Amino acid sequence: MKTTRYDLTRDDLASMLDGEPRYRVDQIWTGLYEHKLAPDELSTLPKSLRSRLVEELPPALTPVAESVSDDGDTVKWLWSLSDGASIETVLMHYRDRSTVCVSTQAGCAMACGFCATGQAGFERNLSVGEIVEQVVIAARRATEGTPSRRLSNVVFMGMGEPMANYDRVIGAVTRIHGDLGLSARHLTISTVGIIPGIRRLATEPLPVNLAVSLHAANDTLRDELVPINRRYPIRDLVAACGDYLEAKNRRLSFEWALIGDVNDRDSDIRELAAIARDLRAHVNLIPLNATPGWPTVGSSPERVKVFCERLCDLGVNATVRANRGTEIDAACGQLRAAHEIGKNTSNEITLGATRRGVSGEA
Ligand code: SAH
Repeated sequence: MKTTRYDLTRDDLASMLDGEPRYRVDQIWTGLYEHKLAPDELSTLPKSLRSRLVEELPPALTPVAESVSDDGDTVKWLWSLSDGASIETVLMHYRDRSTVCVSTQAGCAMACGFCATGQAGFERNLSVGEIVEQVVIAARRATEGTPSRRLSNVVFMGMGEPMANYDRVIGAVTRIHGDLGLSARHLTISTVGIIPGIRRLATEPLPVNLAVSLHAANDTLRDELVPINRRYPIRDLVAACGDYLEAKNRRLSFEWALIGDVNDRDSDIRELAAIARDLRAHVNLIPLNATPGWPTVGSSPERVKVFCERLCDLGVNATVRANRGTEIDAACGQLRAAHEIGKNTSNEITLGATRRGVSGEA
């Protein structure tokens, strides 16, 4: 894999520029992180240095497709990486914040049956630069919109399992906080429930939010929906979440994709309420997005509403997450899956890349 522009640390950049005046390092770093400029846009640099940077610091992400929906409030990109793997990034504007959802791996090895990324299997971990560049591009796009917006939040909820690419994810968190200037309190790592990762995260200096994709509150059902539960069962997972809260004093949330007659029954409400109440966790209910490789459908809108109300009656802080970008396949792994079966969505612009580049299959 090539080193790309956001892979370098400031020290790496300094050694690369050995022989140049020292202030060039600051100039370039400010250009990349504060102004979010590409090397060819760094107009304060001499031409020869600019050309060298263009040559030696390629971008990580080549756009393949871009879709805009919700009146411009949701932008979704499909990127191809230098080795032909492809990943997705989604930018979402809300009234009070703008959030980018980033991928941490190309593919995913966790094999949750209802997830489009899980259905396609694992390709590889992303580098720090491949993760950070998704944030930089979204931040720049947010500023350039009308009205101009400031990117405030990052959720590690795109393709991949962040805890299975731990060091790169923490590297990216550190860069997003220290160099892009986002508050750690506005960063959320979402995990399928990898306990050693949660425990390690509790020892990191930065207090990020933790989201756990629970989806079932008894082991029999969770073993089926989220296969990693066989290794990290609910009781141990709940204990690790409790310890995280104690160590970090951050908000914990549970993700729950509502699947008709599978995890939306009255017993699921009671079991989930017991766990969430104890941990004072916020529950995010997401009506399941149907995917080609999974026969079951999402709960009806009425059932979603009742599920949420009953949880609240039982003392749980629960909300239904508005489904953003459903018409552009913005759920995890869906834009890429749509491309692989040759289906383009209506609001999508396909950008100059070959089919080979799109699917990552040679
Ligand atoms: N691997 C991490 C982060 C990526 S998935 C994790 O599991 O948390 C981001 C969220 O989208 C997870 O909660 C995941 O379970 C959910 N998700 C995946 N496929 C979905 C689908 N088809 N419909 C609704 N939510 C889905």
